Amino acid sequence: MTRVLKFGGTSMGGADNIKNVANIIKNYKQNGDNVVAVVSAMGGETNKLISLANSISKDPIALEMDTLLSSGERVSSSLLSICLNDMGIKAISLSGRQAGITTDDNHNKAKIDKINSSNLQQYIKDGYTAIVAGFQGFANNRVTTLGRGGSDLTAVAIAGSIQADVCEIYTDVQGIYTADPRVVPNAKKLEQISYDEMLELSSLGAKVLQSRSVELAKKLDVKLISRSSFEPNTTGTTITKEENIVEQPIVSGIATDDDQVRVGIYKVIDRPGIAGQIFSKLAFAGINVDMIVQTVGTDGTTDLDFTVPTVSINETKKCMKKFEHECKYIDYNEKISKVSVVGLGMKSHTGVAADAFMALANNNINIRIISTSEIKISMIIDKDKSKRAVQALHDIYKLDQ
Ligand code: ADP
Ligand code: ASP
Ligand code: MG
Repeated sequence: MTRVLKFGGTSMGGADNIKNVANIIKNYKQNGDNVVAVVSAMGGETNKLISLANSISKDPIALEMDTLLSSGERVSSSLLSICLNDMGIKAISLSGRQAGITTDDNHNKAKIDKINSSNLQQYIKDGYTAIVAGFQGFANNRVTTLGRGGSDLTAVAIAGSIQADVCEIYTDVQGIYTADPRVVPNAKKLEQISYDEMLELSSLGAKVLQSRSVELAKKLDVKLISRSSFEPNTTGTTITKEENIVEQPIVSGIATDDDQVRVGIYKVIDRPGIAGQIFSKLAFAGINVDMIVQTVGTDGTTDLDFTVPTVSINETKKCMKKFEHECKYIDYNEKISKVSVVGLGMKSHTGVAADAFMALANNNINIRIISTSEIKISMIIDKDKSKRAVQALHDIYKLDQ
């Protein structure tokens, strides 16, 4: 059996945890399995490097940020290899480039173009455990990084390219829960969840899996398991095709995203093409826009609201400069959160949205924007009410049972 195992920042945080990871790999090797490991930087390292760069420059250049940030994963991959070799297990660390990962040149959020896995395959054949530095590739002879949480994407992409039997994402909780177990103490671990639900949960704020990695796993049909490196004997959660899910709950989980900004463009001139121009500009800058609401126009003007990730606020402000003269004012509100309810069963059940609105109303939480799709309902609320909202939604759907 060929396994790709990905170990996140907490799992790789410090010598004892690295030894723990090496023991997980050793057990699989003793079983006769082929193992490729993908590792994150040690917990907190990437943030530390970002702060350091920001203390030197207000706008550090993306090309050098990638060289800087990729170093965290290089450190942890070599440390794990040192540990395995010390235990008598043949291992070799590889950078993204040495693992054959080429990307586009969109620094800081590069997309993987292709993986030439011949180097990796040869190491596997020769009995090595390859330890790949996650979150990175290369383009035009320079290192690139894949966006925050990108080691999950590295693991799935490698699993797809070497046709591994399974891709196990080891983290600091036992799997995917009905809500973030650090926010909702009675959240329940799920045995299975569909790719589509997981994709919604991740893109709506559940950072347990990077959303692009789930998208790719679905596309390449990679069997994905989320599990704990601290309790490796527990089963974890399998992320799989909708048709493999035995019992489909109406609501599978609640996600919350506290890193969103609401952009309000007030009294914008209501002329054909204005929305097209604004959102094309944002799309061209690679900004992930969500929850667009345009109110009914009066007096030849209208109000336009939408949300963007907090990390994109400076870029968004730059894009909006061009439209300042076409509206009364533009407001940026960072004191908001997006809470979302996700579940396949919403396709066929009524009343799910009404329950969500009542749960928030009963807790005196005002909803500022609502958007829905076939399997999710998202609501913008005040940031200081976010925890209470998640718990209230979790309770109304009895997700702890
Ligand atoms: P890693 O460093 O291993 O990549 P992350 O910090 O990126 O780990 O993701 C794991 C964290 O995701 C957990 O500690 C948990 O707080 C959070 N999380 C958010 N939503 C969920 C959820 N629905 N199920 C499990 N964990 C969740
Ligand atoms: N170290 C990177 C981050 O913190 C990538 C990862 O851990 O997946 O975002
Ligand atoms: Mg992560």
